[in-house]
Amino acid sequence: MSPALHQLSVAAQAQGLAEGRFSALELTEATMARVQAHAGLGAFLAVDEARARQQAQKADAARAAGTAGPLAGIPIAHKDIFVTDFARTGLPSTAGSKMLAGYQSPFDATVVARLAAAGTVTIGKLNCDEFAMGSANENSAFGPVLNPWDRTRVPGGSSGGSAAAVAARLVSAATGTDTGGSIRQPAAFCGITGIKPTYGVCSRYGMIAFASSLDQAGPMARSAEDCALLLSAMAGFDERDATSAQRPAADYAALMRTPREGASAARPLQGLRIGLPKEFFPAALAADVHAAVRGALAELEKLGARLVNVSLPRTELSIPVYYIIAPAEASSNLSRFDGVKFGHRAAQHGDLLDLYKKSRAEGFGPEVKRRIMIGTYVLSHGYYDAYYLQAQKLRRMIADDFAACFRECDVIAGPVAPSVAWKLGEQAGDPLQAYLADIFTLPASLAGLPGMSVPAGFAANGMPVGLQLIGRHFDEGTLLHAAHALQQATDWHQKEPSL
Ligand code: GLN
Repeated sequence: MSPALHQLSVAAQAQGLAEGRFSALELTEATMARVQAHAGLGAFLAVDEARARQQAQKADAARAAGTAGPLAGIPIAHKDIFVTDFARTGLPSTAGSKMLAGYQSPFDATVVARLAAAGTVTIGKLNCDEFAMGSANENSAFGPVLNPWDRTRVPGGSSGGSAAAVAARLVSAATGTDTGGSIRQPAAFCGITGIKPTYGVCSRYGMIAFASSLDQAGPMARSAEDCALLLSAMAGFDERDATSAQRPAADYAALMRTPREGASAARPLQGLRIGLPKEFFPAALAADVHAAVRGALAELEKLGARLVNVSLPRTELSIPVYYIIAPAEASSNLSRFDGVKFGHRAAQHGDLLDLYKKSRAEGFGPEVKRRIMIGTYVLSHGYYDAYYLQAQKLRRMIADDFAACFRECDVIAGPVAPSVAWKLGEQAGDPLQAYLADIFTLPASLAGLPGMSVPAGFAANGMPVGLQLIGRHFDEGTLLHAAHALQQATDWHQKEPSL
């Protein structure tokens, strides 16, 4: 039996469209039907079927005219942290917050605009933790997302809707953002592939800001190949983002396929040194996560890679460092939501100060308020030196630790998270538990390094496990190459949850 349209990868959909086996409109209709059928997962916050059809027809017309972009007619969805032009897409931009409920953006984020220019069809917007703050998608003002592998479990966060939608085959790919792990961890919890590029590879313009020195966009899909196809369309310098890297988008699919020197068909990773930081394999790591990661590493070895022991001695410190710096930046970024310029305004209020207070009290959820308070505290006079400045110094030392490791290895590997996806509600009311579980994703974020989550099999309870690969600055090519080689040799990434 040939696979249904929704089961096809981005690459297979692109091929089918190019060969005229189906039209962009047919693919879009099939995708929207699937999204509707599984609305109960809570992955989507908004869909605009009429506008999606228009975009699909445009893609079909472009293909007939020979002017189609590389991803013409591929239906995708965006994490609702990206603003989408309301006039073009009919989709509000909410950041998962009541503060921005129904907000109509007058423009597209650069990443959204570039994917649209490549021909993708925007199906809708995906649920996420409020302002991307969280690890389980339970901080969304619009309800939780269920993990398609087990509906009693969380999908991870903050890009939980993106991960669940791709894992459930609602869309073949989605965008996500990662400030401290929000692409990698939900990808791992839902058994899909995701890459957070080097800080600056994708423009932050139009990405609703959480922590500007950490926020980075990236693709989430089922394979390294599909991630590469999307990333090439998303990346590249943008004059609207002063921190975007002054380099053009690479052809990541080509980099992914470029053979390594000395490699052979049987040993495509010959000579690749994979560093295993001992701090990434602590006693507290769940035994079946450890076993799955070791299993994936053994496969990489068979493909020619060499495992070397390294150390990232400040791994544990990345938790307090991140949870000082990210809230500090968030407290500043979120000051714009005052009930005047954007978003929610309290219906009943007294003077201007009262308007600010009531609008913010009503519009923000508890986790966002907690971070604004922590951030304001660590930046305040008298505490700045003790907390914020210390955290900045340690951030540099964490980056230096990576630089030392990369003298001994080409890629760093370990688990994405210390456990598989936990039960819905299990950690609600205990934010510290969730913060601690970010231990393996925060270091690469603080150092601005590219990080990837690749399916690495399953735990005893059937939940997916992710292998994390971390690369040198701007060396996404090596990560994608290694992940692709692994996915050519194994089929973990092809396993589908039964819905
Ligand atoms: N879990 C982390 C946090 O809550 C990371 C979130 C993210 O990467 N956006 O801040």
